[in-house]
Amino acid sequence: MNVLVINCGSSSLKYQVINSGTEGVLAKGLCERIGIDGRLVYEPAGGEKEITQADMPTHKQAIQMVIDALINEKTGVIKSLDEIGAVGHRIVHGGEKFAASAIITDEMIQAVEACSDLAPLHNPANLIGVRACQELMPHTPMVGVFDTAFHQTMPKEAYLYGVPYEYYENYAVRKYGFHGTSHSYVSKRAAVLLDKPYESLKTIVCHLGNGASVCAVKNGKSVDTSMGLSPLEGLVMGTRSGDIDPSAVEYIAKKENLDLAGVLNVLNKKSGVMGLSGVSSDFRDLEAAEKAGNARAATAQQVFNYRVLKYIGAYAAAMNGVDCICFTAGLGENNGVIRKQICESLAFLGIQIDDEANSKRGEEIVISTPESKVKVLVIPTNEELAIARETVALVKER
Ligand code: ADP
Repeated sequence: MNVLVINCGSSSLKYQVINSGTEGVLAKGLCERIGIDGRLVYEPAGGEKEITQADMPTHKQAIQMVIDALINEKTGVIKSLDEIGAVGHRIVHGGEKFAASAIITDEMIQAVEACSDLAPLHNPANLIGVRACQELMPHTPMVGVFDTAFHQTMPKEAYLYGVPYEYYENYAVRKYGFHGTSHSYVSKRAAVLLDKPYESLKTIVCHLGNGASVCAVKNGKSVDTSMGLSPLEGLVMGTRSGDIDPSAVEYIAKKENLDLAGVLNVLNKKSGVMGLSGVSSDFRDLEAAEKAGNARAATAQQVFNYRVLKYIGAYAAAMNGVDCICFTAGLGENNGVIRKQICESLAFLGIQIDDEANSKRGEEIVISTPESKVKVLVIPTNEELAIARETVALVKER
């Protein structure tokens, strides 16, 4: 079956068509600047990447352009829409309602809408993509795959904040966690690569991209993760502050004459390594700036690494041990320097890194030495494939 995987944001939309038999990608790309002017990127497997400027005032028109590209006589990868057996949608927040992916129905959409308070920027945008696809492919089954679902196994002591319990009962204030599709995919791959039962491993996954989070996976279940009610908690990220004393919010608001939304905007978009360095949210720029003598760029990277290190330490304690640590996403997959620096500080766990293996990029590889007590792996994440697998499993079950 071919699955169209859609990750829909407010003004952009990423897509892939994956064949569930071969697990190969037939085509992928993105629509950008939806509602502004419009740009379609289309890349068929083994073919040339095409970039087209085209008006796409709505998401429906954007998805129509994707479909036109997919069935184009010359460069398309399918003959007609009938060759798309299902659509898998990434949905950011499933609240406590969704502990697993779900077939999209009217009731399911209502339940996602009910979680939108918790993710006002993401869920409505995800649903726009769902509705547009429903209009264009009314008979194709669709599945929602949630970023939060994998973490619904966290125990109370991990997901409750130390605030009045009524806030949890009345407003669902708690830790939810994100990147669940990635943490689940990577932790499962680690078990396969180490040839160990998934249900017997204590794994820490470090998803280090622009958005970044760490997850403790014990016996195949997420038991803690660094992001919280929103993706702002936890690690210092590209532009997000991560953990911060809430009192600083009031203090910054007064000093900078900002309201609550203004401070949160700073903490989400102008903080992290971007805010610390004043240079960039991209670690390639930070490395270049550091080499050119920029001390703040160096400090920003140290702060980032230190926070990752602390979460790994915390999760090793939370699981009473750790068998393997996995690095994934843009930085985790490509930045051996960060991996090495973090792991050097974990020597007390008996971790030893094989420098040659650690110098490789973007491939599944064990980067610890055979003597290392804890295995360290680089595992490129593949959220689209994970979404396609979930989608097929649910559609077949119907
Ligand atoms: P997002 O959360 O936006 O998906 P990514 O997973 O792409 O983010 O991660 C972005 C970070 O990964 C950037 O800081 C960038 O420097 C780093 N990165 C991505 N690709 C590479 C690469 N090929 N080489 C070195 N660093 C990379």
